[in-house]
Amino acid sequence: MELSIKEKLESLVELQVVDSYLNKIIQLRGNLPFEVQDLEDVILSLDLKIQEIQSKIDGNKKNISSLKISVKEQEDLLKKYDEQQMQVKNNREFEAITKEIEIANLEIQAFKRKITIAEKQNGEFKELLEVYQEKKQSKEKDLEIKQNELKEIIARTEKEEKELNSVKEKIAIKVDKRLLNSYERIKRNMRNGLAVVSTEREACGGCFAVVPPQRINEVKQLKKIIVCENCGRILVDQEMIDKAKEKLAIQDITEQLYA
Ligand SMILES: [Zn+2]
Repeated sequence: MELSIKEKLESLVELQVVDSYLNKIIQLRGNLPFEVQDLEDVILSLDLKIQEIQSKIDGNKKNISSLKISVKEQEDLLKKYDEQQMQVKNNREFEAITKEIEIANLEIQAFKRKITIAEKQNGEFKELLEVYQEKKQSKEKDLEIKQNELKEIIARTEKEEKELNSVKEKIAIKVDKRLLNSYERIKRNMRNGLAVVSTEREACGGCFAVVPPQRINEVKQLKKIIVCENCGRILVDQEMIDKAKEKLAIQDITEQLYA
């Protein structure tokens, strides 16, 4: 039995309604995996920076302790020189030891300067480390939120998606084969995934080009399938879309998920 144009379009509109909901679900989930990935990358690079700074701090600490040992060694020498100076036999010996004391004091000053520099640097590194650690903590919080959001959406949309797909299969069987093929072809070419649109407000609901009154009448008459002259989408009356939505009674879970 040959279907009337009205019947053909009605099933096609139902198909478009289901597909639009499916699109909304996929779009909703669409951004989250990327956001999660981005955050993971940011955290990884912050971790690398933290490790880098920490190893600089550790290097400086090692340096400081070996410098302190050197200072101690020189101080021990100074004590020894002091004792020796008490027991010198002549002026020449006294002057030689005085020279040694001068050198040891200069060494101590130089080591202490290096210690001060390294300690100051570590102070700066520690401040930087805190900044990066705080940043990392806040990114980790964001990540946890996004991961939970994604998990929740996947959990909540999985069931919905399956149901919509099974509804879609049932509708697709009813749709005229040739019409189904052109529907799929148009849909593939459209960025918004819409192949069937309404002529509400005398314009194509897909590309918003003006539809002449004559064509709007033809759309209403349902004697043949009318397409938009500008974008090629199949045009139908808004009433038909509303009826299909009412008949399918799909609960738009994406709106709840946005809230
Ligand atoms: Zn159009």
